[in-house]
Amino acid sequence: TTKQLIMSEKLAAIGEITAGVAHEINNPIAVMQGNLEVVRGVMGDRADAARTEFRLLDEQIQRISQIVTKLLQFAKPEEYAGYVERHAPREVVSDSLPLVQHLLNKASIEVKRHDAARRLVLMNRTELQQVVINLIVNAIHAMPDGGRLTLSSRDAELDGRPGVLVEVEDTGVGMAPEIVQKVFDPFFTTKRREGTGLGLSISQTLVTRQGGKISVESEPGRGTTFRIWLPEAA
Ligand code: ADP
Repeated sequence: TTKQLIMSEKLAAIGEITAGVAHEINNPIAVMQGNLEVVRGVMGDRADAARTEFRLLDEQIQRISQIVTKLLQFAKPEEYAGYVERHAPREVVSDSLPLVQHLLNKASIEVKRHDAARRLVLMNRTELQQVVINLIVNAIHAMPDGGRLTLSSRDAELDGRPGVLVEVEDTGVGMAPEIVQKVFDPFFTTKRREGTGLGLSISQTLVTRQGGKISVESEPGRGTTFRIWLPEAA
Protein backbone atom coordinates (compact mmCIF):
# COMPACT_ATOMS: atom_id res chain seq x y z
CA THR A 1 0.00 0.00 0.00
CA THR A 2 0.97 3.67 -0.35
CA LYS A 3 1.28 3.99 3.41
CA GLN A 4 3.76 1.10 3.58
CA LEU A 5 5.72 2.56 0.67
CA ILE A 6 6.01 5.95 2.35
CA MET A 7 7.02 4.19 5.58
CA SER A 8 9.78 2.20 3.89
CA GLU A 9 11.04 5.27 2.04
CA LYS A 10 11.12 7.16 5.32
CA LEU A 11 13.04 4.30 6.96
CA ALA A 12 15.53 4.22 4.10
CA ALA A 13 16.06 7.97 4.46
CA ILE A 14 16.51 7.63 8.24
CA GLY A 15 19.02 4.85 7.55
CA GLU A 16 21.07 6.99 5.18
CA ILE A 17 21.15 9.97 7.53
CA THR A 18 21.93 7.76 10.51
CA ALA A 19 24.83 6.06 8.73
CA GLY A 20 26.24 9.44 7.69
CA VAL A 21 26.02 10.88 11.20
CA ALA A 22 27.47 7.74 12.78
CA HIS A 23 30.47 7.78 10.44
CA GLU A 24 31.02 11.46 11.25
CA ILE A 25 30.97 10.77 14.99
CA ASN A 26 33.46 7.90 14.70
CA ASN A 27 36.38 10.14 13.72
CA PRO A 28 36.28 12.56 16.66
CA ILE A 29 35.81 9.58 19.02
CA ALA A 30 38.99 7.98 17.68
CA VAL A 31 40.85 11.30 18.04
CA MET A 32 39.64 11.66 21.65
CA GLN A 33 40.62 8.09 22.49
CA GLY A 34 44.10 8.57 21.04
CA ASN A 35 44.70 11.88 22.81
CA LEU A 36 43.48 10.51 26.12
CA GLU A 37 46.23 7.88 25.90
CA VAL A 38 48.83 10.52 25.06
CA VAL A 39 47.79 12.73 28.01
CA ARG A 40 47.93 9.72 30.33
CA GLY A 41 51.41 8.89 29.06
CA VAL A 42 52.69 12.47 29.43
CA MET A 43 51.34 12.70 32.99
CA GLY A 44 53.15 9.52 33.98
CA ASP A 45 52.81 8.79 37.71
CA ARG A 46 50.73 11.91 38.24
CA ALA A 47 47.92 10.34 36.15
CA ASP A 48 47.16 8.20 39.22
CA ALA A 49 45.71 11.23 40.99
CA ALA A 50 43.05 11.45 38.29
CA ARG A 51 42.47 7.71 38.00
CA THR A 52 38.69 8.00 38.51
CA GLU A 53 38.37 10.78 35.95
CA PHE A 54 40.37 8.83 33.40
CA ARG A 55 38.19 5.79 33.96
CA LEU A 56 35.03 7.89 33.52
CA LEU A 57 36.37 9.40 30.30
CA ASP A 58 37.23 5.92 29.01
CA GLU A 59 33.78 4.58 29.92
CA GLN A 60 31.88 7.45 28.35
CA ILE A 61 33.90 7.30 25.14
CA GLN A 62 33.20 3.55 25.06
CA ARG A 63 29.51 4.24 25.52
CA ILE A 64 29.36 6.71 22.62
CA SER A 65 31.28 4.24 20.53
CA GLN A 66 28.77 1.45 21.32
CA ILE A 67 25.84 3.69 20.41
CA VAL A 68 27.51 4.59 17.11
CA THR A 69 28.09 0.90 16.36
CA LYS A 70 24.40 0.21 17.03
CA LEU A 71 23.37 3.06 14.74
CA LEU A 72 25.59 1.76 11.95
CA GLN A 73 24.34 -1.77 12.44
CA PHE A 74 20.78 -0.49 12.18
CA ALA A 75 21.47 1.68 9.15
CA LYS A 76 23.81 -0.65 7.22
CA PRO A 77 23.03 -4.19 8.40
CA GLU A 78 24.60 -5.70 5.23
CA GLU A 79 28.00 -4.20 6.04
CA TYR A 80 27.88 -5.72 9.49
CA ALA A 81 26.70 -9.18 8.54
CA GLY A 82 28.91 -11.93 9.87
CA TYR A 83 29.35 -15.33 8.21
CA VAL A 84 26.70 -17.87 9.05
CA GLU A 85 27.50 -21.17 10.72
CA ARG A 86 25.62 -24.22 11.94
CA HIS A 87 25.23 -24.30 15.68
CA ALA A 88 22.97 -25.21 18.57
CA PRO A 89 21.08 -22.18 19.94
CA ARG A 90 21.23 -23.58 23.49
CA GLU A 91 25.02 -23.15 23.37
CA VAL A 92 24.55 -19.51 22.45
CA VAL A 93 22.25 -19.13 25.47
CA SER A 94 24.92 -20.77 27.66
CA ASP A 95 27.61 -18.47 26.29
CA SER A 96 25.43 -15.39 26.84
CA LEU A 97 24.57 -15.93 30.50
CA PRO A 98 28.03 -15.30 32.02
CA LEU A 99 28.14 -11.93 30.23
CA VAL A 100 25.05 -10.70 32.07
CA GLN A 101 25.49 -12.62 35.34
CA HIS A 102 26.54 -9.51 37.29
CA LEU A 103 23.36 -7.71 36.21
CA LEU A 104 21.21 -10.71 37.16
CA ASN A 105 22.84 -10.89 40.60
CA LYS A 106 22.48 -7.18 41.21
CA ALA A 107 18.75 -7.29 40.46
CA SER A 108 18.15 -10.56 42.40
CA ILE A 109 16.84 -12.38 39.38
CA GLU A 110 16.50 -16.13 39.46
CA VAL A 111 17.30 -17.94 36.21
CA LYS A 112 15.51 -21.08 35.01
CA ARG A 113 16.62 -23.00 31.93
CA HIS A 114 14.92 -25.60 29.77
CA ASP A 115 17.08 -26.89 26.96
CA ALA A 116 15.27 -29.40 24.83
CA ALA A 117 16.31 -28.28 21.34
CA ARG A 118 18.26 -30.89 19.39
CA ARG A 119 18.26 -29.27 15.95
CA LEU A 120 20.94 -26.95 14.60
CA VAL A 121 20.28 -23.57 13.02
CA LEU A 122 22.14 -21.48 10.47
CA MET A 123 23.05 -18.03 11.71
CA ASN A 124 26.07 -16.02 12.69
CA ARG A 125 26.77 -17.05 16.30
CA THR A 126 27.78 -13.60 17.50
CA GLU A 127 24.64 -12.10 16.01
CA LEU A 128 22.38 -14.63 17.69
CA GLN A 129 24.24 -13.98 20.93
CA GLN A 130 23.66 -10.26 20.46
CA VAL A 131 19.93 -10.89 20.04
CA VAL A 132 19.75 -13.17 23.10
CA ILE A 133 21.73 -10.74 25.29
CA ASN A 134 19.55 -7.87 24.14
CA LEU A 135 16.41 -9.80 25.15
CA ILE A 136 17.94 -10.76 28.51
CA VAL A 137 19.04 -7.19 29.27
CA ASN A 138 15.55 -5.90 28.39
CA ALA A 139 14.10 -8.55 30.71
CA ILE A 140 16.43 -7.43 33.50
CA HIS A 141 15.35 -3.80 32.97
CA ALA A 142 11.74 -4.96 33.27
CA MET A 143 12.41 -6.58 36.67
CA PRO A 144 13.97 -3.82 38.83
CA ASP A 145 12.69 -5.51 42.00
CA GLY A 146 13.81 -8.98 41.04
CA GLY A 147 11.89 -11.84 39.51
CA ARG A 148 12.39 -14.90 37.35
CA LEU A 149 14.02 -15.18 33.95
CA THR A 150 13.19 -18.35 32.04
CA LEU A 151 15.31 -19.30 29.05
CA SER A 152 14.11 -22.21 26.97
CA SER A 153 14.88 -23.77 23.64
CA ARG A 154 13.02 -26.54 21.88
CA ASP A 155 12.51 -27.97 18.42
CA ALA A 156 9.39 -26.47 16.87
CA GLU A 157 7.65 -26.14 13.50
CA LEU A 158 6.55 -22.84 12.01
CA ASP A 159 4.22 -22.94 9.01
CA GLY A 160 5.18 -26.59 8.59
CA ARG A 161 8.91 -25.86 8.52
CA PRO A 162 11.22 -27.51 11.07
CA GLY A 163 13.20 -25.17 13.30
CA VAL A 164 14.20 -24.18 16.80
CA LEU A 165 12.28 -21.92 19.15
CA VAL A 166 14.15 -19.91 21.78
CA GLU A 167 12.08 -18.21 24.48
CA VAL A 168 13.11 -15.46 26.86
CA GLU A 169 10.44 -15.01 29.52
CA ASP A 170 10.39 -12.52 32.37
CA THR A 171 8.09 -11.84 35.30
CA GLY A 172 8.55 -8.09 34.95
CA VAL A 173 6.41 -5.04 34.43
CA GLY A 174 5.01 -6.19 31.09
CA MET A 175 3.65 -3.92 28.37
CA ALA A 176 0.32 -2.46 27.35
CA PRO A 177 -0.89 -3.50 23.86
CA GLU A 178 -0.07 -0.07 22.37
CA ILE A 179 3.56 -0.46 23.52
CA VAL A 180 3.80 -4.06 22.26
CA GLN A 181 2.82 -2.79 18.81
CA LYS A 182 5.81 -0.46 18.69
CA VAL A 183 8.64 -2.43 20.28
CA PHE A 184 10.27 -3.40 16.98
CA ASP A 185 10.11 0.15 15.59
CA PRO A 186 13.55 1.74 15.24
CA PHE A 187 14.24 4.35 17.94
CA PHE A 188 11.17 3.37 19.97
CA THR A 189 12.17 3.39 23.63
CA THR A 190 10.53 4.04 26.99
CA LYS A 191 13.95 4.26 28.68
CA ARG A 192 14.59 7.98 28.44
CA ARG A 193 18.38 8.37 28.70
CA GLU A 194 19.46 4.75 28.88
CA GLY A 195 17.76 3.49 25.74
CA THR A 196 18.49 3.83 22.04
CA GLY A 197 15.37 1.99 20.93
CA LEU A 198 17.48 0.08 18.41
CA GLY A 199 17.98 -3.24 20.19
CA LEU A 200 14.78 -4.96 19.08
CA SER A 201 14.77 -3.35 15.65
CA ILE A 202 18.28 -4.70 14.99
CA SER A 203 17.34 -8.08 16.51
CA GLN A 204 14.43 -8.35 14.12
CA THR A 205 16.64 -7.53 11.12
CA LEU A 206 19.21 -10.16 12.15
CA VAL A 207 16.64 -12.90 12.77
CA THR A 208 14.49 -12.32 9.68
CA ARG A 209 17.59 -12.16 7.48
CA GLN A 210 18.13 -15.84 8.38
CA GLY A 211 14.54 -16.68 7.51
CA GLY A 212 13.53 -16.63 11.16
CA LYS A 213 10.89 -14.82 13.11
CA ILE A 214 10.82 -12.84 16.35
CA SER A 215 7.61 -12.22 18.25
CA VAL A 216 6.40 -10.99 21.60
CA GLU A 217 3.60 -11.61 24.03
CA SER A 218 3.11 -9.46 27.09
CA GLU A 219 0.75 -8.71 29.91
CA PRO A 220 1.03 -5.55 32.02
CA GLY A 221 2.06 -6.37 35.59
CA ARG A 222 2.71 -10.03 34.77
CA GLY A 223 5.59 -10.18 32.36
CA THR A 224 6.78 -10.62 28.82
CA THR A 225 7.86 -13.46 26.56
CA PHE A 226 9.99 -12.93 23.48
CA ARG A 227 10.23 -15.81 21.01
CA ILE A 228 12.87 -16.33 18.37
CA TRP A 229 12.19 -19.02 15.80
CA LEU A 230 14.96 -20.04 13.41
CA PRO A 231 14.71 -22.58 10.60
CA GLU A 232 16.68 -25.80 10.98
CA ALA A 233 20.01 -25.86 9.13
CA ALA A 234 19.60 -28.06 6.08
P1 ADP B 1 15.85 0.00 24.36
O1 ADP B 1 16.09 -1.17 25.27
O2 ADP B 1 17.10 0.76 24.04
O3 ADP B 1 14.73 0.89 24.82
P2 ADP B 1 14.71 -1.97 22.55
O4 ADP B 1 14.44 -1.90 21.07
O5 ADP B 1 15.56 -3.12 23.01
O6 ADP B 1 15.38 -0.58 22.93
O7 ADP B 1 13.32 -1.99 23.34
C1 ADP B 1 12.32 -1.05 23.02
C2 ADP B 1 11.32 -0.90 24.15
O8 ADP B 1 10.55 -2.10 24.29
C3 ADP B 1 11.91 -0.67 25.53
O9 ADP B 1 12.24 0.69 25.76
C4 ADP B 1 10.77 -1.15 26.43
O10 ADP B 1 9.77 -0.15 26.57
C5 ADP B 1 10.14 -2.27 25.62
N1 ADP B 1 10.58 -3.61 26.11
C6 ADP B 1 11.47 -4.41 25.50
N2 ADP B 1 11.62 -5.57 26.19
C7 ADP B 1 10.79 -5.51 27.25
C8 ADP B 1 10.47 -6.41 28.35
N3 ADP B 1 11.05 -7.61 28.47
N4 ADP B 1 9.55 -5.99 29.26
C9 ADP B 1 8.94 -4.79 29.13
N5 ADP B 1 9.20 -3.90 28.14
C10 ADP B 1 10.12 -4.25 27.21
